[in-house]
Amino acid sequence: MDENKLTGRLYDIQGFSVQDGPGVRTTAFLKGCPLRCPWCHSPESQEFYPQLSWIGLRCQGTELCQSRCMKACPKGAIELGGIREDPVKGEKIQMIHVKRDLCDNCGKCADVCYPAALYMCGKDYTVDELVRRLLQDKSFYETSGGGVTISGGEALSQPEFTLAVLKRLKEEGIHTALDTTGYASWSTVEKVLPYVDLFLYDLKHMDSEKHKAVIGVPNEPILDNAKRLAEAGAKLQVRIPVIPMFNDDEANIRKTAEFCKSLGDAVVSVQLLPYHNLGVMKYLRISDKPVAEATPPSDEFMQKLKDMMSEYGLHVTIH
Ligand code: SF4
Ligand code: SF4
Repeated sequence: MDENKLTGRLYDIQGFSVQDGPGVRTTAFLKGCPLRCPWCHSPESQEFYPQLSWIGLRCQGTELCQSRCMKACPKGAIELGGIREDPVKGEKIQMIHVKRDLCDNCGKCADVCYPAALYMCGKDYTVDELVRRLLQDKSFYETSGGGVTISGGEALSQPEFTLAVLKRLKEEGIHTALDTTGYASWSTVEKVLPYVDLFLYDLKHMDSEKHKAVIGVPNEPILDNAKRLAEAGAKLQVRIPVIPMFNDDEANIRKTAEFCKSLGDAVVSVQLLPYHNLGVMKYLRISDKPVAEATPPSDEFMQKLKDMMSEYGLHVTIH
């Protein structure tokens, strides 16, 4: 099959990113991830299928809309919901509520919701279509020393598509970064290796049992892939989400630092990403389930962790 016609599923494309690798970048976010981090700030990235999302602040109210969405739903999954106040006029607006247990994500309601309060998250692109979109920003990459970052979800869960996109980008002379959990078979990682300039590589916990208990998968494949990448000459920017009561204790931070150190020159830097609860609102867009929240770590605490890891000769930054 022609590789350019392969399709992959994305949930977002963001231009002008300065946080996903060097320079100004465009980041393509692929949908679907085998991990289930409870703190995930992009919960819409986790499932592979397109999902119905709803943003209450956009909802114009059932009266104005004449309940278009309610009529459109073949499952009877939309009912009257809460009331919000129009921030300008002060009027009360009767919103809707999606009964998630009845919804099968068919998208019929999103088709008739003109303010896009309801929308489908997850769109398929061919390799050609995505590369064409990414090349639109080429001048920004060239002037800033930037490039393209393929992120997720877990991009390596759509391995053929990711590989084909990376190959095309390298043919165009674009700097490429792959933001990955590292949770994939080595044969998959090995294939993309020649086409990735920088791996943004997540490490979440050094204890495999704790990793599995909280995230749902063990850490051995992740650590093993990091070692193999280092041996193969890859460049890694290690990213550590700092999650209160999960991985922020001294023992784990020091073990993580030792592991990074053991990878030698492969690790160009370590980024500490303090937990934040900005993702909580995003959970409400796709689910009714309550979300566990934690208190974000203080600046002083983050500095302490940074100092601790720097003792190992690593170049550590706080994101
Ligand atoms: S969800 Fe959309 S169609 Fe339904 S009431 Fe709100 S704005 Fe109207
Ligand atoms: S996506 Fe869900 S709520 Fe919307 S029309 Fe389909 S079943 Fe109904």
